[in-house]
Amino acid sequence: MKKTMSVAFFFVLGAMIGLSLSCGDILDEMLRELIGSVAVDAMRAAYIDSRQILDDGRIHVILAGTGSPRIDGDRSHPCTALAANGQFLIFDAGPGAVDKLFLQGFPVQDVEHFFLTHMHSDHMGGIANLINLSYNSGRRNVIHVYGPDDSRNLSHSLYPPTSKEYRAGHETTTPDGLPDTRRINELNAVDLRNGLVWDVGPDPDLVYIPGIGDMVDGINMAYSADTVIRTSNRQIPEDPDGWAHNMAVAHPHPDMPYTEQENHGWGELQEVVTFPDKGSGHGDLVVKCFLVDHYPCFPSYGYRIEYAGKVVVISGDTESLMPYEAAPGEQSYWATYAENADVFVHEALNLEITEIMLDAIMAEPDLLAIPAVVNIVAQFRGAADHHTDVLDAARAAAEANASILVLTHVPNPTPNDPIKDLFTEGMNAFYSGQIILGEDGMDIQVPF
Ligand SMILES: [Zn+2]
Ligand SMILES: [Zn+2]
Repeated sequence: MKKTMSVAFFFVLGAMIGLSLSCGDILDEMLRELIGSVAVDAMRAAYIDSRQILDDGRIHVILAGTGSPRIDGDRSHPCTALAANGQFLIFDAGPGAVDKLFLQGFPVQDVEHFFLTHMHSDHMGGIANLINLSYNSGRRNVIHVYGPDDSRNLSHSLYPPTSKEYRAGHETTTPDGLPDTRRINELNAVDLRNGLVWDVGPDPDLVYIPGIGDMVDGINMAYSADTVIRTSNRQIPEDPDGWAHNMAVAHPHPDMPYTEQENHGWGELQEVVTFPDKGSGHGDLVVKCFLVDHYPCFPSYGYRIEYAGKVVVISGDTESLMPYEAAPGEQSYWATYAENADVFVHEALNLEITEIMLDAIMAEPDLLAIPAVVNIVAQFRGAADHHTDVLDAARAAAEANASILVLTHVPNPTPNDPIKDLFTEGMNAFYSGQIILGEDGMDIQVPF
């Protein structure tokens, strides 16, 4: 009896082990197939499907990052892309934004031209990553970087006298005792002149402002060893000069004639680069730049892209409507820069929401004892001086006769629909076109 039981036991046990082994094999095989198909699908999505937007009869305006310098889980730092005529152009690359662009399913490998609006970290902190990621993703030509010139010897006294705040007298602190960032900005300008921040040439009245030439040299140098190692280790047969192709080439914008002309260059459009028609018959794609008032960050640019009779305008960071002291009723520079834009991507904050935030924080003495909080409050206060309130963005879009206004560079948290609605409240009173509060990953399409 015992023997029979033991035989039966071992028979059942053997069957169970055999069954589990065969199930294990099946599971193992299924897992292998799953891993393989996921890998193949990911490759197709990243390097084939993503490229369909490059020439599909539409201009794609892609909001990779719609945030500001503030770290926001919902909004990456500033980055806008444009796909048309076989080109994939990127405007600004804040930290993390290009990774997000890749994860959003857009063809980072096709970026060969990058445009910087100004030398603020939230717009340039991801450029090195853009250069490396695009090469590692398949770019095989040098990447061209356009933006502010360097080696600019700018007289402090000629620093563009365009900002209301610069001309106004300032107190060092606000009535509630916090640092007044406008005053700090002015002090920074004095620091520049005294050589405390940047090198000063032989003339102590001149300041040297680094631009994309210095920046690109620095990035190329910093990553040169990494580039050589990666490209040689990979032994990419079709690109033996990969170490060179991973590099960037700077194309600084020519100086705007701000000292010679009455309007200091405001309102002037300047051609940056033309991409010839790639056979679609819709003509060349032209990128133009223009100066904006983002004092004290000078020069700061926006971009106007023209293709197939359509216009896309990217404001860059800019203060309100400042056409440098426009008389009442006079139009701002947006009437020229963004004239008849099909898509006008404009930076925006909401002053009302900002005040609510600041009032709440200011009512908490324990928070105000923390230096970081004091800094944040000061930054939000300062933002109003060189950024644009939503209502002024609406006015700008109306002046430009733009079809669609897209809001980006949003510093205020917008975690739910009621707050998003509050963010754009009142804009319709000034602008009757379509208003889109930008979200990361949005792909706004303009058929032509
Ligand atoms: Zn910014
Ligand atoms: Zn800025």
